[in-house]
Amino acid sequence: MSWKTIVGLEIHVELSTKTKAFCNCENSFGKEPNTSVCPVCLGLPGALPVLNEQAVKFGVMAGLALHCDIHEYSKFDRKNYFYPDLTKGFQLTQNDRPICTDGYLEIGDDENKKKIGIRQIQLEEDTGKAIHPEEGDTLLDYNRCGVPLIEIVSQPDLNSGKEAREFLEKLRATLKYIGISDCKMEEGSLRCDVNVNIKNEETKECSAIAEIKNLNSFRGVEKAVEYEEKRQREMMEAGEKEEKTTRRWDDVNEETILMRVKYTANDYRFVPDGDLPLLHIDEELRSAVASKMPELPDQRAKRFQKEYGLSQYDASVLTGTRELADFYEDTAALFKDYNTLSNWVMGEVLRRIDTDTNFLVPFEPKDLAELLIEIKNKTINNNAGKKVLRTMFEKGGKPKDIIQEMGLTQISDSSQIEDMVLKVLDNNPQSIADFKAGKDRALGFLVGQVMKESRGKANPQMVNELLRKHLDK
Ligand code: ZN
Ligand code: MN
Repeated sequence: MSWKTIVGLEIHVELSTKTKAFCNCENSFGKEPNTSVCPVCLGLPGALPVLNEQAVKFGVMAGLALHCDIHEYSKFDRKNYFYPDLTKGFQLTQNDRPICTDGYLEIGDDENKKKIGIRQIQLEEDTGKAIHPEEGDTLLDYNRCGVPLIEIVSQPDLNSGKEAREFLEKLRATLKYIGISDCKMEEGSLRCDVNVNIKNEETKECSAIAEIKNLNSFRGVEKAVEYEEKRQREMMEAGEKEEKTTRRWDDVNEETILMRVKYTANDYRFVPDGDLPLLHIDEELRSAVASKMPELPDQRAKRFQKEYGLSQYDASVLTGTRELADFYEDTAALFKDYNTLSNWVMGEVLRRIDTDTNFLVPFEPKDLAELLIEIKNKTINNNAGKKVLRTMFEKGGKPKDIIQEMGLTQISDSSQIEDMVLKVLDNNPQSIADFKAGKDRALGFLVGQVMKESRGKANPQMVNELLRKHLDK
């Protein structure tokens, strides 16, 4: 039997506006609880919302980046439910007339592109946060109440955990590029719900959708989908059935855990909000936002291929985040051997930093350029260059000073190298015999001995040439 996995995502993204969605309270993470609140975001009777223009602009930017239709008119609705972190008793959101619909985001590389549909993007407000300490009462922090969100709803176009993860990574990179959110999963500014079911491709029979709530890592998303596709397949193969379920992901045991069975659809009694008029986005606003859109990851990767002659793979890695791409370009302005630069950034630099959280390189692009120029000019050899870079990461400092301090300046004086070559040859008659008997490995050994003799500072190319010259005699 063959099964198809069907995955759709709902992603909540907190917008990086200065103030909240409908009031003037400061929108910032990590403040003293309940210090950024007012009658509007606390939902006190009689308080009236005023829509934040910046949140609307950010919503339009998201829509443009995801190739959506941006609607001239959209509507705010009240989604009614009771929960202690929502004092108003309803959430302001957009139900049937959201700001953006019908977009897409592409995943995969040039040979393997796949368009993932975006059903809609709606503007809404966040709820407060309930904190459940180990002991004592539940605590409530309303600072997050009224923080502007967009909810991005994908079409069920994803067919594996890997694809879901790739989509999410691409989405985050895109949103960070346009600067509308910091997209920190660990701080909850990007949160993801995953809907998964499977389909028997012969009988067309489908399993009930499992909704996995509030995944907080990309890896969790991938694993949760893989866990569910297996669980649902085993259930279907055993001829069992279940209702729709809501589940959560247990990161430690790597399994989904049943929270509740949904016998009926949620009924939020959506009603149009009476305090907010229809949201009108006229052509002027739309084109003002469009004219300020920055280059997006895909566009930038294409340009890197063309402008710097990089491979598709290198270009896509180097444009993975805006900060990394800026770092590459700022260095490339000073060091024109773009492929060598790409190798150094993708190897020696990227393995020391975690691009997932923050791009924190403890030196400037011009310092890396200076180091690569020293290597290119043969002041130091490649291996010494790696030592210098490691020091730049660990202790800081300028490449020229580090080269001086560590005494790494390359020896390119041929008579000095020749002396060392002769000494090594004198001490290793067996290797000479081996080389003459056709054992090429002997040469590598001798090169190593000369490099050792020079404490790693000899110009390796000259060592090679001089050794060959004397061996061929
Ligand atoms: Zn407020
Ligand atoms: Mn929502």
